[in-house]
Amino acid sequence: MVAAAGGRDLTCLIAVSKTQPVEKIAALIKEGQRIFGENRVQEGIKKKAELEAMGLHAEWHLIGPLQTNKIREAVCGFDAIHTVDSERLARLLYKEMEKQGKHLPCFIQVNTGREPQKAGVTPEEADALVQDCRQIGLNVVGLMCIPPADAPPAPHFDLLRAIAERNGLEHLSMGMSGDFEEAIRHGATYVRVGTALFGERY
Ligand SMILES: *Cc1c(COP(=O)(O)O)cnc(C)c1O
Repeated sequence: MVAAAGGRDLTCLIAVSKTQPVEKIAALIKEGQRIFGENRVQEGIKKKAELEAMGLHAEWHLIGPLQTNKIREAVCGFDAIHTVDSERLARLLYKEMEKQGKHLPCFIQVNTGREPQKAGVTPEEADALVQDCRQIGLNVVGLMCIPPADAPPAPHFDLLRAIAERNGLEHLSMGMSGDFEEAIRHGATYVRVGTALFGERY
């Protein structure tokens, strides 16, 4: 956990452990880190199992795209999903959560920079997807974004926050190694930090 600026609520630190070996994750858990982010379902589940076999427990957040054929495993293995970006995915997720009796907190991913290569709904589509998810029954707790790499992130953080506020959503998953301090100043409740914690990825 890192303390947020200006007396706001605490910001939770998601240690993004994709491509990192379990030894490094184990060391962080022993130091008290509680939340880890993985962007691939199978890789995350495998590491989680290896760590649990060592008696090391953590909260696992899926921060990468979720293919519909991985929904069952994702709901089974993860504790939160940050990448809901369509009504179809929301429906299938809800159905599986019902089946497993496990209603995980979900974030809607917003493509704030409208980048064609990135997942997420456009800022205009976000309100409608929040409504759809609520109608479906999905436990949507917040929004997530990955700002364009080559632009100042602050306007993207503010846009995400504005969408969350007008939809009554509490959580903002935003900020990575290069911009997490700025994200915290702009209201992040979760930051997703990989290389700044672990060093370069393999
Ligand atoms: C890899 C990744 C991160 C972490 O990126 P760093 O720059 O290493 O901190 C955060 N969010 C998502 C969605 C990622 O895929």
